[in-house]
Amino acid sequence: MMFNDLLELAGKRKLKLICACLLHAISCGLAIIPFFLIYLLFLEIFSTSPDEVRIWWILALIPVVYVIMSIALIYAYNLSHVAAYQILYTVRIELGKKLSKLPLGFFNEKNTGELKTVINENVELLEFFLAHHLPEMISTIFVPLFLGIFLFIMDWRMALASVLPVALAMTVILLKSSGWGEMIDEYLSAQSEVNATVVEYVQGIKVIKAFNHTAESFKKYKGGMAFWKDSVIKWSRQRAAPFTLYQGLITSTLAFIIPVGLWLYSSEMLTMETFLLFLIVGPIFGGLFMRIYEFLRYGMEEKECMDRINKIFDTENITDEGKEKVESFDITFNNVFFAYDNRNPILNDINFHVPQGTRCALVGPSGAGKTTIARLIVRFWDVNYGKIMVGDYDIRDLSLKNLLSHVSIVLQDPYLFNDTILENIKIGNPQASMDDVIEVSKAARCHEFIEKLPDGYSTVVGERGERLSGGEKQRISIARALLKDAPIVILDEATVFIDPENESLIQDAISNLTRNRTVLVIAHKLYTITNAEQILVLDEGKIIERGSYSDLMDAGGLFREMWDTHISTLDWEIKR
Ligand code: ADP
Repeated sequence: MMFNDLLELAGKRKLKLICACLLHAISCGLAIIPFFLIYLLFLEIFSTSPDEVRIWWILALIPVVYVIMSIALIYAYNLSHVAAYQILYTVRIELGKKLSKLPLGFFNEKNTGELKTVINENVELLEFFLAHHLPEMISTIFVPLFLGIFLFIMDWRMALASVLPVALAMTVILLKSSGWGEMIDEYLSAQSEVNATVVEYVQGIKVIKAFNHTAESFKKYKGGMAFWKDSVIKWSRQRAAPFTLYQGLITSTLAFIIPVGLWLYSSEMLTMETFLLFLIVGPIFGGLFMRIYEFLRYGMEEKECMDRINKIFDTENITDEGKEKVESFDITFNNVFFAYDNRNPILNDINFHVPQGTRCALVGPSGAGKTTIARLIVRFWDVNYGKIMVGDYDIRDLSLKNLLSHVSIVLQDPYLFNDTILENIKIGNPQASMDDVIEVSKAARCHEFIEKLPDGYSTVVGERGERLSGGEKQRISIARALLKDAPIVILDEATVFIDPENESLIQDAISNLTRNRTVLVIAHKLYTITNAEQILVLDEGKIIERGSYSDLMDAGGLFREMWDTHISTLDWEIKR
């Protein structure tokens, strides 16, 4: 599986990899020759009339073989590294392309941390496989095999003595490595979790400190680190004893060769030259098995990494085959059922209609499903049952580009890029002129504060807009949406406390943005939606009340209850 996937991605680089493997094979074939030459040397030295010229020839040939071996190896590694880095590049580019085809809903915090780990760390580990383990595979298997055969040809009894510790060592590893796959999985999961936690902690540190949540967030950060530490320790512990035993056995060949050799030699069943040959080659033979262990250990890790990469490639793309173009802009939910990951249904039979140019507010307790409804309209995910329509079409029959071009989304925590204010607003419409930008900025009530900044519209906002206040960021994101001039607006009102001055500016900006548009607003401050044409009260994924403000107040249900609490907290805030 791993081979096939990688070779498929390798494409044109396959030839390089094959050449690298061949060169490796040649070099490992050559590796046997010096041992044979050493044997010939001993034969000559211990013969009754040693031939000096022959001895010199043999001595000269040994380094020549090593030089040829090294040249073949240099070329092999060169080729395999170039191919590996090119393949890594391809894998990363393909992953990037894949991400653009995934539903927006895939990019939640958990997946984002994991993605970072997969694209950086997991892909990087494939370099090990492609540049080292793949070409070395032949030598790792065949050099010990050929050397073993050579030893058996020389003297089977001495060969048995050399093979015995290695066979014991292999048995230990085979018996002990059964649970390693799971452990590597856990270890890699801990790695991506720690990545996600670090990103979250560092990015949020200003907010965390400002709201004095340091202890709580640090606890989460510490928890992530502790999980990582525990996994690594567990993984190392599990390997420690078998590995030490393995290493001890394969390096102890002499302890087996010497007694057997001495006994055979003293019983005149072994020549001195063969004994010497085994004394030299035996430990080298054992040492070759160190590589086999590394192969096993890293091979498992590389396979896990490949599985993680494949998991992303196997995630279902969002279908985007629709060709229809919307012409009218009302929103309809027809018998919509939806569940994340096919588990508990989050939305149960949602039905509503927002006529073009009217405002619909979603209210209800936290976790009721308001955000989910808003996100389904822009196809963060697709519904499990029922349909969502914009104009006359099921949104799945529209091209995603067409759908998104008609919707502006304004979120609670708007995302600003570390670029100038001008560029941040122009995301709404990159073709817009400076005059257009100024016009929408005035309507979004941000022109005034932008003008006061040292570089005006050319002021760089800092990472995620850190140089601006929450209210300013919000107004810039409204300017952006105004510039996009989309007929449908999805608005997630800010829950955080914004000072009264900013609050009224934002309300002005929002009323400019929503005028004459089809609006779906997730409302947290009930007094802002009293004049919405329609209010939907959601609870546990169901619409339990609907109507205008006065209808709902008269009905005396959940909305009325929420309103009373809302007003009393407002009173409390004002009194304070
Ligand atoms: P609201 O906006 O009303 O607070 P949401 O739509 O955010 O509610 O959430 C509704 C339910 O769906 C909650 O139980 C929440 O835990 C769950 N939920 C929200 N987003 C996801 C997600 N990406 N994966 C799984 N469950 C989610």
